[in-house]
Amino acid sequence: MEAAEGNNKSLNFVEAIVEEDLKNKKHQGKIHFRFPPEPNGFLHIGHAKSICLNFGLAEKYDGYCNLRFDDTNPTKEETKYVESIKKDIQWLGFQWYEKPLYASDYFDQLYEWAVQLIKDGKAYVDEQSQEAISQQRGIPTRPGTESPFRNRPIEENLELFERMKNGEIKDGTMVLRAKVDMNSPNMHMRDPIMYRVLHADHHRTKDKWNIYPMYDYAHGQSDYIEGITHSLCTLEFEIHRPLYDWFLDQVADGPRPRQIEFARLNLSYTVMSKRRLLELVNKGLVSGWDDPRMPTLSALRRRGYTPESIRDFSERVGIAKRDNMIDVSLLEFSVREHLNKVAPRVFGVLDPVKVILTNYPEDKVEILEIENNPEDPESGARKVPFSRELYIERKDFMEDPPKKFFRLGPDREVRLKGAYIIKCEDYNKDEQGNVTEIYCTYDEGTKSGGHNQRKVKGTLHWVSVQHAINAEVRLYDRLFLDEDPSGHKDVDFKEFLNPDSLKILQDCKLEPSLQNAEAGDKFQFQRMGYFCVDPDSEKGHLVFNRTVPLRDSWAKKI
Ligand code: ATP
Ligand code: MG
Repeated sequence: MEAAEGNNKSLNFVEAIVEEDLKNKKHQGKIHFRFPPEPNGFLHIGHAKSICLNFGLAEKYDGYCNLRFDDTNPTKEETKYVESIKKDIQWLGFQWYEKPLYASDYFDQLYEWAVQLIKDGKAYVDEQSQEAISQQRGIPTRPGTESPFRNRPIEENLELFERMKNGEIKDGTMVLRAKVDMNSPNMHMRDPIMYRVLHADHHRTKDKWNIYPMYDYAHGQSDYIEGITHSLCTLEFEIHRPLYDWFLDQVADGPRPRQIEFARLNLSYTVMSKRRLLELVNKGLVSGWDDPRMPTLSALRRRGYTPESIRDFSERVGIAKRDNMIDVSLLEFSVREHLNKVAPRVFGVLDPVKVILTNYPEDKVEILEIENNPEDPESGARKVPFSRELYIERKDFMEDPPKKFFRLGPDREVRLKGAYIIKCEDYNKDEQGNVTEIYCTYDEGTKSGGHNQRKVKGTLHWVSVQHAINAEVRLYDRLFLDEDPSGHKDVDFKEFLNPDSLKILQDCKLEPSLQNAEAGDKFQFQRMGYFCVDPDSEKGHLVFNRTVPLRDSWAKKI
C-alpha cells in the first residue's frame, strides 16, 4: 500500500477505489473479495482475468478472497465442475480464504429472508405461466402490467410458499416474486422472480429443497452474508445492481458490499460462453473441455500454457470500464515469452527426410554436448548422439532453391546445430517425385566449439536416425476462422469452425533425451516452436502438443 502511494497513475480504477477505501479506514482496514463461479462448466481464460483480479487484489492489499460457488441451478451443476474449478484456481497459483463456500450453504437463510419479505408485504406467490409473466413485464419504455396475484393476502402467500417448499406444488406452476416496481424503466425491477419450484436433486443439498432461489436473489445476498467488501463483476451486472440493493434494503443491518463492474475479457477467434463451449463438447466437435483448442484453463494447461503466462496475460490486458476485444496473439505472446525463459531446447524433426553423410564412418557415434537453454545458463547441457545417418526437416531441403533460401540444396552448405557443416552432393527421389535421401559430406574441421569457425548462413536441427525416438505431434490452429464467431446475428457460431484446427503428425523423430519425458513437460523444439507432452502419451508412444510456434504465423499472412 505504502509503495503505491504517489504512484496513483499506474493503478487501475478498481485499485484506486480500494486504496481510497483503505485510506478512509472503511471496513476496519480489512478488505474481502470473492470469485463466484457457477459450477456449470469449466473455467476459461475470461474467468482467469476475474480470478487474477480478485485473488490478486486480496494478495496486494493483504485482504481475503473467498471462492464461492453460486450453485442455484441444480439441473446444470455438477461436482465434476466444482473439482475442476478448484484445481484451475490452484494451478493459477491462488488459494481461497479458509474453505470453498457455496450459495447453497445459505439456502436456509435465504428462505427465512424470503418469508420475511412476504410478511412485510414485499413478495407474493404468482400462479401465472412464464409467458404471461414476461408478457406483463412489457418493454422498458412503457409501464408493465401488475399480476392478478400481486395483492394476494399475506397469509395466503405464506401458506403457498410453504407448500412450494414442501414439494406439494408442481414444477413451473408457481413462483415467488418480489414486489418491487412494475413501472420501473429497469426491467430487472419489475417484480423479479425470487424462487421457482424445481423437484431436482442438488449436487450438495440433494433432495432437501423443492424450491431454488434465482441467481439474482442469491448472489448479492451471499456476498452480504460473507462480509464481502468489494463485489467485482462484469459490466452486464451493472443493471442488476439496483435489484441487489433493493434485496439488501429489505434485510441488511450490517455493512454492505460495494459492487464494482469491469469489462469482461473477450478474446478473438474463440467463444467464451459456457453454453457454447458445452455445445462444442456435447456435439463432439472437440474432444472435451480440455481439448487443447478450447479457451478453457484445462485446455490451455494441456496445450502447454504455464500459470505464469496466463497471469502475465491478465496483467497486460488490464482492467477496463468498457468492453473490448483482445487479440489472441497477445495470449500467445505471453506464453512464448515465458517458455523462452524456462523451456529446455531439444531437436525434434516433425516431417523427416534422411541425410546420409557419405564421408562419415558407418559405425561411428559421437556424443555431442549441446546447451539446454541459452536464456538460462544454469540449465547446463545435454548429450546428443551424432552419426552417419540423420533426419532433417523436409522443408529444409529444396531441389531448386531460390537464392535467399539459406538451407540445404544441391551444392549448398549448412551447419547442423551443435555439430558440423555439411554440403549436399546428391539426392534420391521416389516414383512420385518425393525426395527420399539426401547425400552430403561433412567437413570434419568445422565441429561446433572447435577452432575452425567457418561461417555459413543456415543452421538446421537434426536427429540421428539410429537413436531417434518416434512421436506423435499435434499441431493446432485457431478453432474458429472468424474473429468473433458469436457476433453474427443470423449465422450460428459453429459455422465458423476451422476445419484445419488440428493436424496430427504420426512419424516425428525426436532426439533420445526425450525418451523419459512425462505428461506436462515442456520443450522448445528448436526452430519449430514450444511443445508439451500430452497425457495421451504411453510408454513407447509419446504424444506432443504444439503450444505455439516460435513466431506468430498469422502476423505474416496479413
Ligand atoms: P454463465 O453464462 O454460465 O453465467 P459466466 O461466464 O458468467 O457464465 P460464472 O461462473 O458466473 O460464468 O462466472 C464467474 C465469475 O467470472 C463472474 O464474476 C463473472 O463475471 C466472471 N467472468 C465470466 N466471464 C468473464 C470474462 N470473459 N471476463 C472476465 N470475467 C468473467
Ligand atoms: Mg454468470
